[in-house]
Amino acid sequence: MALPESITKRLSDDYSITTDKSQPVSGGSINRAYRISTNEGDLFLKYNSDAPDDFFIREAEGLKLLASASTELRIPDVIASCPPSDESPGFLVIEFINKEPSGNAEQFGAALAGLHLTTAEKFGLNEDNYIGSLPQSNEYHSDWASFFSEERIKPQLKMAIDSGKMDQAAISGWNKISSKLNELLPETAPSLIHGDLWSGNYLYDNDGRAVLIDPAVYYGHPEMDLAFSKMFGGFSPEFYRGYESVSPLENGFDDRVPVYNLYPLLVHVNLFGGHYISQAESVLSQFS
Ligand code: ADP
Repeated sequence: MALPESITKRLSDDYSITTDKSQPVSGGSINRAYRISTNEGDLFLKYNSDAPDDFFIREAEGLKLLASASTELRIPDVIASCPPSDESPGFLVIEFINKEPSGNAEQFGAALAGLHLTTAEKFGLNEDNYIGSLPQSNEYHSDWASFFSEERIKPQLKMAIDSGKMDQAAISGWNKISSKLNELLPETAPSLIHGDLWSGNYLYDNDGRAVLIDPAVYYGHPEMDLAFSKMFGGFSPEFYRGYESVSPLENGFDDRVPVYNLYPLLVHVNLFGGHYISQAESVLSQFS
């Protein structure tokens, strides 16, 4: 599908970026994506006519926050982030990355550990944002267990129950886990994390450097990103070796992974339903 003219016009009127050519880029799950050739070189553009008004603004802020952390990770420069107008859908324009099939995974791991060394006073963020297309609440909390329960798990459980995908047993299951959270989860300083770190959300550039895209950033537990990375695989042993060369994992991490991954699992329940429901129910009943 061709890039809507309303978008190229807005890019030209508001940013003096003129587009010669646009080519669809496949592989996204939510938005329509294009490589555009412009007077400023090749850029990556995505738009979504159904996205909430602040969707691409929040994504751009997330990218900028990651870029502001001093790490070896590459974060695409944000060129434009626009809410929908009467004329055009909302869209985001960022630097185009010439991606390579592989890169330096060990350096990626070490650089992610470096990102996690960026800390804040509290868990959360000054703005809510999105995980995939779902809202993500970032209200500040002083302790990780209450942030994880109140801002991550409970809103997703409520959504799943309200839509009839899960029932009240899910809440009882969560209450049992939640009463043990302080013992289960090790303490940490609130650390800047990507927040949606599955293998579709990183690329390697032609220097073999990892590039992070599609963030759902907040200050949280670094183990969230690592658990997320295990949800669908796609991260090599070198990646974890690189991470641990900077920040060794605390004992018992593997046992905590299913607890952290209840969050992306419930997000998948709410986005797709299907077999994710029984998977989530099974984790929720494990602690009964
Ligand atoms: P969605 O937000 O719908 O999940 P993405 O933006 O993640 O879509 O990605 C769509 C496709 O574009 C994926 O194949 C991804 O690898 C690629 N991609 C994402 N960002 C860039 C970029 N800055 N440069 C080049 N390709 C990109």
